[in-house]
Amino acid sequence: MVLTMQEFEFISWLQAQHVLTRPDIRVGPGDDAAVVMFAGKPLLVCKDLLTEEVDFRLVEAGEYAVGRKAMAVNLSDIAAMGGRPLWALLGIVAPPGTNLTELYRGAMECAAAHGAVIVGGDTNGWSSGLVLSVTVIGEPIREAVLRSGARPGDWLMLTGPVGGSIFGRHLNPTPRLREVVTLLDHVQPHAMIDISDGLGQDLSHLCTASGCGVVVEAERVPIHPDAVRLSNQTGRTPLDHALTDGEDFELLFAVRPGDGSALLEQQPIPLWHIGTFTTPDHGLLLCNEGTTAPLPRRGWQHRFGDGQ
Ligand code: ADP
Ligand code: MG
Repeated sequence: MVLTMQEFEFISWLQAQHVLTRPDIRVGPGDDAAVVMFAGKPLLVCKDLLTEEVDFRLVEAGEYAVGRKAMAVNLSDIAAMGGRPLWALLGIVAPPGTNLTELYRGAMECAAAHGAVIVGGDTNGWSSGLVLSVTVIGEPIREAVLRSGARPGDWLMLTGPVGGSIFGRHLNPTPRLREVVTLLDHVQPHAMIDISDGLGQDLSHLCTASGCGVVVEAERVPIHPDAVRLSNQTGRTPLDHALTDGEDFELLFAVRPGDGSALLEQQPIPLWHIGTFTTPDHGLLLCNEGTTAPLPRRGWQHRFGDGQ
């Protein structure tokens, strides 16, 4: 079969297949993790794949860092659901010569640092690049925070500076699990997503799921020093990198304005208020030095067939 759909087209198609769903499936494909009921309690389940030369260069990063990244990006999806991780499964498809124990150690230590345990997996060999598949099961700390709950008037908040992760942060992301525990002590966000593919693109997923528009205020966006460094090489603005580079794994979330201003005052965790949700007819906008333009939504997307 020739694949001609792009990643997000396929995910939309998948969501449509789940219209007739079972009562134990509260959230199917389309959020950072699925929410399923088991023994009367909600569980969070997610999987992310990492592929050599797409997500990492094994010769540069080494097995330990690659194992750690594979676990961290999955734990980030649990954080984005307002959850805590419990168990993980590690799938490995490795070429000859791969240091499997270092790979496992990276994944295991990352899981342990966040209270999760690898309880199984599978290991296969082949002659192509290293592929890792991690599944994490967790539970909501309070109620699962979905992508779909933002409302017009909500504040859009961000947990850290973004852009230029290619300089190394992309290999060692910090899943914002501790921050989420503290955040949920203070407020119940209406909606949340982690930034894996780019702020603009991931925000657009959140807006689509919530049926909202948004205005991002450029001067409020915390720009990472790496984005400035990268802009010197690319000629693009640091802001453009902050809005479109992926793999920062900071959290973007929606809260009531009153909750947002209380959070800003108390700063229980690092937080930035970068915009406001609107009704959907306004679209996704970037307000920069008094001018308003469409929010850049370029970002990472896996492409297949024609789109390559
Ligand atoms: P994230 O960047 O948060 O990991 P993705 O963009 O990878 O999210 O995936 C978005 C949603 O699509 C998730 O809910 C995921 O489970 C679902 N999804 C992606 N690929 C598949 C697939 N092959 N089968 C079923 N669901 C999928
Ligand atoms: Mg995610």
